[in-house]
Amino acid sequence: MKNCLNCQKSEQQIPLLPIHYQDADVFICPQCLPALIHKPASLADKLPGLENVQPPKDEP
Ligand SMILES: [Zn+2]
Repeated sequence: MKNCLNCQKSEQQIPLLPIHYQDADVFICPQCLPALIHKPASLADKLPGLENVQPPKDEP
């Protein structure tokens, strides 16, 4: 069973997008994808190292 790394919804409940990070294959749902894009540090407790990832430069 695959689950969203952030909200833990399963692939039975919502489409999941595969992401490859470091040596792991993890999954994220579309509802959580904006957080990964715009506030990557907010997911640092799920994916260690994201606290060092900056959002795109044109963010307000
Ligand atoms: Zn999610």
